[in-house]
Formats: sequence, structure tokens, C-alpha cells
Amino acid sequence: MAETLTIHLVNKAGDLRGRFEASHLATTAALLKGWFETVILSVPAFSAVAVRTDTKQGDVKARDLVCYLLTSAEDSIVAKRATEDITLGVSGSTMMGAADKAVVSEVYMRQIVQKGDPRANATTNREQLVAGCILHELIHNISDATTPVVTDVHKVKDGVICRELDGNPLTGTEAPNEVDNKVAATALTRRATGVKQHASAMPA
Ligand SMILES: [Zn+2]
Repeated sequence: MAETLTIHLVNKAGDLRGRFEASHLATTAALLKGWFETVILSVPAFSAVAVRTDTKQGDVKARDLVCYLLTSAEDSIVAKRATEDITLGVSGSTMMGAADKAVVSEVYMRQIVQKGDPRANATTNREQLVAGCILHELIHNISDATTPVVTDVHKVKDGVICRELDGNPLTGTEAPNEVDNKVAATALTRRATGVKQHASAMPA
């Protein structure tokens, strides 16, 4: 029976002093829902998508995805859990924790919304830009954060969301194309039992 793909957005960044308020987060969530609804058209296991911003640890089901919204890389959950030297992405990172084999996806909101400057105004189309960065990390989550790698996200040809972002960051007008959707659908299909998500930094 087809199920709902639920994506949990865990906001630990507050509202960036009004530059990313609840209404902006709701717009980001709606964009992600629409994008994933297109992806699952070719994934028989799923018949619906829900994007939630209010969930707790116990709400995360086997095939769900989790992305943490952090103020900056200084708050990185990935870095805290790493057992070796790692380089975080500029706008976000995704990595499996060695201890519990659970994957963490995180984005750095001040970098995405204000180019890293806490005094700066919000960038144009902040909601879509945040959504694009979250989608990029979630495609890492299902495609190349665990072995065997399904697709190396940074080596995808002609993707918009699937590309190396460091040095070539996403803009607020970019959205997933057919190449990105196929990468995501292939990964969701191949990860038939899901990818274990790191949920313990969510509210209890
Ligand atoms: Zn990346």
C-alpha cells in the first residue's frame, strides 16, 4: 500500500530577527511539498507528501526524511557527531554518524537568507532559496550519504539542485528540473527500507 512521504523540518534557527518568520517557513514547506509531489509520481511506494514543521522524535517513521534548520555552521550537528576531520558545506551538510549509522541533514539559515551577515537584509526569494538548499541536502541524504551510493549528487550532469554548490551557490529563482527529480525518484525507489534519520536532536 502506498504511503505518505513525510519530511520533517526542524527549525532550530528561530526567525533570524524577523528575516525568516513562520510565514516564510510555511512557504518553504509548501514549495518542498510541491517539488516532492512531482518526484513521487514515479515512485510507486508513495502516494502523498507531507512537510511538517511541528513534529517530535517519535513522529519519524522508517522512510521519512529529516532536515535541521540551524542558524549557522557553528551549530552543526554533523560536526558534533563526526569522528574525523570533515569540511562542512557552505549552506548545508549531510553525513552519516559513525556511532548510530543515522544520517543528519542540516542547512545554515543565516548563510542562505543573509549571506552569513547577521545585520544583512534577507536575500530575494528567500523561501525558495531555503527550499532549494533543503532539497539539495535531502537528495544527498537518500542518494550518497550511505553506501552503496545510488548517485553522487555533485557529479550529476545538467541538474540544478544536484550539482556542486560550493563556489556555485543556488539562487532564489532556481528550482528542481527533470534531472533532479529523476535522481531523487531513483534514490527513493532504491532505498526501499528508507535511510535511518538522526532524530534525537528533535524535540522529545
Ligand atoms: Zn552538496
